Amino acid sequence: MSKRRGRIIAGVAAVAVASTAGAVVATRGDHGSRPTGSTAVAVGATPGVVSDAEKAARKAQINVLLAQRASAVLKGDQAGFLKAVDPQLVTGQTRLFKNLRMFGFSKLNYFVESERKTPALVEKYGAQTFTVRLMMRYQLTGLDRSPVQTDLGYSFTRRGNQWVLISDSEIDSELSRDGHQQPWDFGEVAVTRREKVVVIVDKAEAALGAKIAKSSSAAVAAVRRHWPLGWDGAVMVVAMREPQVMSNLWTTGTGDGWTIAAMAVTLYDGEPFRLKTGAPVGSRIVVNPKYRQSTDKDLLVHEMTHVATDSLNWRTPEWLVEGVAEYVRCAAIEDDPHWTVDPYRRQVRKKYLPTMKALLTSADFDGDGERAYALAWWSTAYLAEKIGPQKLAALYADLSTHNTTPAAYATILQKHTGKTPAALAAAIKNWRG
Ligand SMILES: [Zn+2]
Repeated sequence: MSKRRGRIIAGVAAVAVASTAGAVVATRGDHGSRPTGSTAVAVGATPGVVSDAEKAARKAQINVLLAQRASAVLKGDQAGFLKAVDPQLVTGQTRLFKNLRMFGFSKLNYFVESERKTPALVEKYGAQTFTVRLMMRYQLTGLDRSPVQTDLGYSFTRRGNQWVLISDSEIDSELSRDGHQQPWDFGEVAVTRREKVVVIVDKAEAALGAKIAKSSSAAVAAVRRHWPLGWDGAVMVVAMREPQVMSNLWTTGTGDGWTIAAMAVTLYDGEPFRLKTGAPVGSRIVVNPKYRQSTDKDLLVHEMTHVATDSLNWRTPEWLVEGVAEYVRCAAIEDDPHWTVDPYRRQVRKKYLPTMKALLTSADFDGDGERAYALAWWSTAYLAEKIGPQKLAALYADLSTHNTTPAAYATILQKHTGKTPAALAAAIKNWRG
């Protein structure tokens, strides 16, 4: 399970400096195919029993069909895409095709991973019916550094000399967290491109897409200003009505938990269920549907910092990952002389610093998100001031690669800050900002 980097709702983030008549105090939302046909397989010679050879043959035939569907997407051949689709699925598959065409795939292929048992479909459609879990491996032009992978479940039945797609949702519950829940898997979408940012909204909300694209450009500039390691600004922001996109759960933590306004969802190549043994190869920002209309630069800066650092978020502790995102967000707010985060500073000094006993752990984030984000920010702001952004980034990168044990963690902190974890926590606690 990959980590999900979110930004919480509630609390105080930024307050306008009293400057205009009425001393405007604006509290920003702190958020915070076709089958080959020519090689018919003798399936069902014995009812209900399919030999391994028959399974291998139909797997090969479905792979050919899938390759034809992928090719149809890349070429814009809607008729080709729909050639092996049951009439009942044509509406949904047409929408899928139109959506996929809007994303700009530089690479796309689908292949069968394994067969799955779906007796209800066999009952309904006959013995020559089967279901496969398949992989969709793709790369979006201008967005993905390398291919990423997600999964789908397709059911086929034999009609005449071809396999026909009869269901695309029968094994959804067996798929990975974002399997069959990609932005193109729901209603019709609108895609807005601005510089290297790609914003996805529901087609009916295209104006929102344009607005978010504008905020995104400003957010990209802010991240580039404050994160010293460089970032090309290529990112997808998904702000759809559908809460299941990328399978997000919008609350986290223990007890009642807390609500997440948006998150950077990490992407990997290979089997989605395998243990992740390396840094992610990309990420998408997904906005909580409840807050999509109020998606602003402030929120986007936090999430985009996660995207800018995603290849370095492997073993980096949560406090530094969230801390850097908050550090960049707050620094970006104060780029505008009319805005300050002083009220947030006061809140941290008064309410949270006295409770700090050690460098934060994931348990702190599960327990009280607001406190954890605030202290993570403070810890990072301390480091940025004491060792500077460049060395902070070097510490971040070192932890991402080498933080394999508590001893390694201590050694890396000592190397970059000159302090043990306990001494560093004490210094952060005593720092007044
Ligand atoms: Zn975050």
